[in-house]
Amino acid sequence: MPDKFAVGVDFGGTKISAGVVNLETGRLVSAAKKKTRQVQDEQDVVKRIISVVDESLNEASVDLKKVVGIGIGAAGMVNRQKGILLAAVNIGANDLPLTEPLSKHYNLPSKLGNDVEVATYGELVFGAGRDCDDFICVFVGTGIGSGIVRDGIIVRGATGTAGEIGHMVLFPDGKQCGCGAFGCLEAYASRTAVAKNILVDLQRGLDSVIRDKVDMQKGILRSKAIAQAIQSGDELVTRAVVDSAQFMGIGLASVINFYNPQRIILGGGLVEAVDLYLKVAEKEAKRRCLKIPSRKIEVVKAELGDYAGIIGAALLCAN
Ligand SMILES: [Zn+2]
Repeated sequence: MPDKFAVGVDFGGTKISAGVVNLETGRLVSAAKKKTRQVQDEQDVVKRIISVVDESLNEASVDLKKVVGIGIGAAGMVNRQKGILLAAVNIGANDLPLTEPLSKHYNLPSKLGNDVEVATYGELVFGAGRDCDDFICVFVGTGIGSGIVRDGIIVRGATGTAGEIGHMVLFPDGKQCGCGAFGCLEAYASRTAVAKNILVDLQRGLDSVIRDKVDMQKGILRSKAIAQAIQSGDELVTRAVVDSAQFMGIGLASVINFYNPQRIILGGGLVEAVDLYLKVAEKEAKRRCLKIPSRKIEVVKAELGDYAGIIGAALLCAN
């Protein structure tokens, strides 16, 4: 079969990235990105997406006739049929049409999915789930999202929002979560939670090698800096990661008991940079879940890394 290509767009809270993907092999032929922070309005969003897509097409040097479509994975809730991003918190806009303007501009079909859903799709076809029909992909970042695959198909739920594992409640009177509720897993196990805990300890004057790597004003702490601190044996940072990973394990134990998946795939910058997170979460999950499902469960790292979103979005155009 001749090679077919599609453009995948990963439209996130802080950046738009796009790449040309070979749909037969899953190989990324090119990639480009732009920040979304200074976005002005809706037209501006579409313009920015087009400029990133153009850049990725230029770099790919692929015959345009072989490009079959443009897939978009967007952070937030989406209407897949209409190709509309329903709640675009990152740019403060609602009901933002994405597929129609792109389709018109390039004269190609365009499809839209949620970012976690498309990253799960990427792992299913070309990543850590390619030989497995029943798994859950959990992505740890600013928040925690998950995609559910049952019999090789992504489960979306009645309102298309299945997989909100981050809002599983661990403590009825716990910390407040970004969603407004209290005690959600996300408030304890996300990268944001790890960074917050480290910042609080630093503000209390505790000692850590990570002190120089933190932007105390903005509270920014990169996964790589966390990984380096752990490698150097830093107690404060190691403690923060172990605590969060244990909470993740508690959440996963419930998922294992309830859903009985064959595999859990953990991804996201922190998980990829810090091996300890997965190890601790896996141990805690297996220790807490019921014996029979625990015999079968495998906990593994996602394989497509930063590109899961682009590859998965491109795959929306595969059929
Ligand atoms: Zn929540």
